[in-house]
Amino acid sequence: MHYPKAYDVIVIGGGHAGTEAALAAARMGRQTLLLTHNIETLGQMSCNPAIGGIGKSHLVREIDALGGAMALAADKGGIQFRVLNGRKGAAVRATRAQADRILYKAAIRDVLENQPNLDIFQQAADDLVVEGDTVKGVITQMGIRFDAKSVVLTTGTFLGGVIHVGLQQSRGGRAGDPPSIALADRLRELNLPVGRLKTGTPPRIDARSVDFSVMTPQPGDTPTPVMSFMGDVSMHPQQINCYITHTNEQTHDIIRSGLDRSPMYTGVIEGVGPRYCPSIEDKIHRFSDKDSHQIFLEPEGLTTHELYPNGISTSLPFDIQFKLVRSIKGMENAHILRPGYAIEYDYFNPQALKPTLETKSIKNLFFAGQINGTTGYEEAGAQGLLAGLNAARRAWDQDGWTPSRDQAYMGVLVDDLITLGTKEPYRMFTSRAEYRLMLREDNADQRLTAIGREMGLVDDARWAHFCEKMESVEQETARLRALWAAPNNKLGQRFVEQTGEVLSKECNAIDLLKRPNVTFNQIAELTGSDVSQLVGEQIEISVKYAGYIDRQQDDVAQLKKLEESLLPIDFDYDAVSGLSREITQKLKDVRPASLAQAGRIPGVTPAAVHLLMVTLKKQG
Ligand code: FAD
Repeated sequence: MHYPKAYDVIVIGGGHAGTEAALAAARMGRQTLLLTHNIETLGQMSCNPAIGGIGKSHLVREIDALGGAMALAADKGGIQFRVLNGRKGAAVRATRAQADRILYKAAIRDVLENQPNLDIFQQAADDLVVEGDTVKGVITQMGIRFDAKSVVLTTGTFLGGVIHVGLQQSRGGRAGDPPSIALADRLRELNLPVGRLKTGTPPRIDARSVDFSVMTPQPGDTPTPVMSFMGDVSMHPQQINCYITHTNEQTHDIIRSGLDRSPMYTGVIEGVGPRYCPSIEDKIHRFSDKDSHQIFLEPEGLTTHELYPNGISTSLPFDIQFKLVRSIKGMENAHILRPGYAIEYDYFNPQALKPTLETKSIKNLFFAGQINGTTGYEEAGAQGLLAGLNAARRAWDQDGWTPSRDQAYMGVLVDDLITLGTKEPYRMFTSRAEYRLMLREDNADQRLTAIGREMGLVDDARWAHFCEKMESVEQETARLRALWAAPNNKLGQRFVEQTGEVLSKECNAIDLLKRPNVTFNQIAELTGSDVSQLVGEQIEISVKYAGYIDRQQDDVAQLKKLEESLLPIDFDYDAVSGLSREITQKLKDVRPASLAQAGRIPGVTPAAVHLLMVTLKKQG
């Protein structure tokens, strides 16, 4: 059947990338179809029930600043919130929410079902309709053909998915879900550069069989943080503790005894796993000098006894999983609800993508999420939003948009992927961003909400909320600038009394805040401020970091020139005299969009960038 409605955008896959992609396109007013295997698994967390964390919460806040769903769903589903790196600088501070996976999924589904311009259809996509070098639509498992101007593929770990538990294998997209075989075969036929990666998950434990009394409770932070700029603690459900325990030497011996039946160590799994989220067998092998590893027991929700033991992801055979779990303090009688497993799947080399996440070889076809070699819900959601908005723009013949590296972690993510490619699952860290002082989680709205508003991604309520906050920051800053403290006036004397600081000459309250040991809360108390915590935090950070931020902005201004020198996709690198054969090949493999991106390709020297610049100038 040829479906009668033609869409602007079709999104395949209802995971974290797919839901943000579909929502973004629909918010922008495009007729959008979300085609997914199973409506019940929309927004499903395949692994750890948590959103955010270092580097990741920055992405979540950016998704949120552009009107996306992830942060608000985390606020509605979050059962434990913490700020990581709380004592360190604002740039690396990160919010993490442990989520009730049922509540999280329900929040995502609720947004999807109530989004105007969005249709949802439950069915596997088996084929892409490609005419010439352009994608025109999708054909489902039942043979239904849907037409669209752009298509976004977000199939996660499902393409050619193989599940491993010990030496046993089965085909699956994740436990309990079918793999995508027909679509994987079709993509291989289209000659897109494909590879294999793997990831894994721990066995889940029944909380009723665990002795928490011998573990260390880990409560959430007080006051409870929120994830979304539109969030509020009143949205949070009941808050509960996680618990900490450890592996021991006996656990490690048990693991070693099973390595001869490990799919990883017997060479059965060929795909490379996530370096930063290794399996327990990998940890024992790589850090053989350590006789203990920390395990966080994280509740999967308020209405289930299921626990996620963070730190013991494994694909060892079940008998070994059983013994290793029971060797851990407090888990001597633990009952495993679901075995741990590893999954191997197809991913596509992201160097074959443009900065908009459109494939270079097939027009109007966009890829986002785990399919691009990343790992994590946040990385997937961020790419989904970008691919969705660019697919939407393409559908109406508008130019693409990608944030730059100094504008957003999303920009860092996409630029790293398309420039460097990835041979192992890529996850975000604050250390990947060279301008991290400017890319804080607290200012994602200031960096992106106005742009999102312009593109049609940000609704009236969010826009009004943002404008109100910025107005309040401005007014309060002006008020503090106009308040003078002097050694002989009341404000000055109270300041000295309460802070123990020395005041030798007159200055305004913003100058007082510049001092390293003075906090906004102290200034607020002294001056009778009534602004919210969020507004105060913004003022404090911008005052304290002003010098560093100015310096980063100078660097950015210099880089902008290179960023704006665009290299055409068909640029003839062979014609650039003086380039070594090796560098020419690297440039031809990546086909960078700008001189700046060319300079970020490993092995491309500043001299080579200079030669490119000269050639570009000559070409006019
Ligand atoms: P997914 O969330 O996988 O969503 C893909 C969606 O596409 C699904 O809804 C699926 O039904 C649908 N779909 C697939 N094929 C088709 C088709 N042909 N037609 C229609 N619909 C289709 N991340 C971490 O950060 N740390 C970890 O330790 C970690 N461990 C993991 C362990 C396992 C076993 C798995 C499965 C995942 C793990 N992840 C981990 C990854 C995390 O789950 C993903 O990064 C994230 O879910 C990716 O989002 P996505 O939207 O790209 O794909």
